[in-house]
Amino acid sequence: MAALKDLLTRLIQTDGPMPVSTYMTLCLHHSAHGYYATRPGLGRDFVTAPETSQVFGDLIGLWLAQTWIDLDRPRPLQLAELGPGRGTLMQDALRATGPIDGFHEALTLSLVEASPPLRDIQASRLARYAPTWISDPSDIAPGPTLILGNEYLDCLPARQFVRDGPRWRERVVGYSDTGELAFGLTDDLSDPNGTASAPPQARGFEIQPGLETLVEGLRQRARLGHPFAALLIDYGPSEACPEDTLRAYYDGTQIDPLARPGESDLTVDVDFGRLVRLAKQAGLQVHGPVPQGQFLLALGAEAHLNRLAGSASDGGAALYHGTRMLIDPAEMGTRFKFVCISHALPFKPTGF
Ligand code: SAH
Repeated sequence: MAALKDLLTRLIQTDGPMPVSTYMTLCLHHSAHGYYATRPGLGRDFVTAPETSQVFGDLIGLWLAQTWIDLDRPRPLQLAELGPGRGTLMQDALRATGPIDGFHEALTLSLVEASPPLRDIQASRLARYAPTWISDPSDIAPGPTLILGNEYLDCLPARQFVRDGPRWRERVVGYSDTGELAFGLTDDLSDPNGTASAPPQARGFEIQPGLETLVEGLRQRARLGHPFAALLIDYGPSEACPEDTLRAYYDGTQIDPLARPGESDLTVDVDFGRLVRLAKQAGLQVHGPVPQGQFLLALGAEAHLNRLAGSASDGGAALYHGTRMLIDPAEMGTRFKFVCISHALPFKPTGF
């Protein structure tokens, strides 16, 4: 998309090469040319778990309701979703929990969504639950709260550092002699703080400052005293720190992250090890991470699938296929993980 490429080139000409995190932010969220701001391609460029099988949203709905019941049914309950996409997860979760006595009456729904076109889709699909849209998780109203986020964390922009002898240099986006966008390295480290958490043996590492912001928001929420639980689902390692995992998806295919700025989805692996450390340092409770397949099976995926398949017109073939994708270790079953960060939860949430 020439418009964003031109804009990036002009910015690099005036301000110099930009950190990878700035490149990600502009590509995803620039108001006139950003990917999510203008042409989010869920189902075209990439497919997510709730779009793969309704079993995902149904079981997460039951998890929400069970957690609410175990908390002694607080009312009101703040229910929030981070990055709801097409609203499928919330739609399935709330449909599945319709029969649970008092649950819908208790809840106030907020959606943290940056993308105007996706807000429009969410508005039409979730209208009956009267959601409000907010731009930051810290804007969720106080009180007992349940938070969901599937494939939200992987969109948070990452900074990348590369070891050069005793020094660290930051990876930046500039342009080559031929005028194409190109990766480069800063002459010297611009952020000594960022490198403090670098693993001693790493040649490079990647860090999402947004994870810190999210955990800090949760820490502040915990200080208000009400219980909360945030169920976050994404891909990434639990042990090793990611080095360079920036990827772009366009039309279902992985492409060069610099090839189609604003036209392709950009994503990085989530450093679950760091997320867990940050949450524990903030005095929050952490459950998991556990692999997606294990979590969904523990919540009764098989029995639920068989129940749904019994009334499906194709005998359940599509449901079986989709659900197998979610659970199979060779597909999404181990790569995706569930982690729950909570406060004042007097029990271990179901599935962990
Ligand atoms: N959860 C959905 C969509 C995942 S795609 C699903 O599983 O299908 C990522 C979602 O996060 C999109 O809705 C995108 O617009 C939103 N998003 C990305 N970065 C965001 C940010 N900084 N603030 C709010 N929403 C964001």
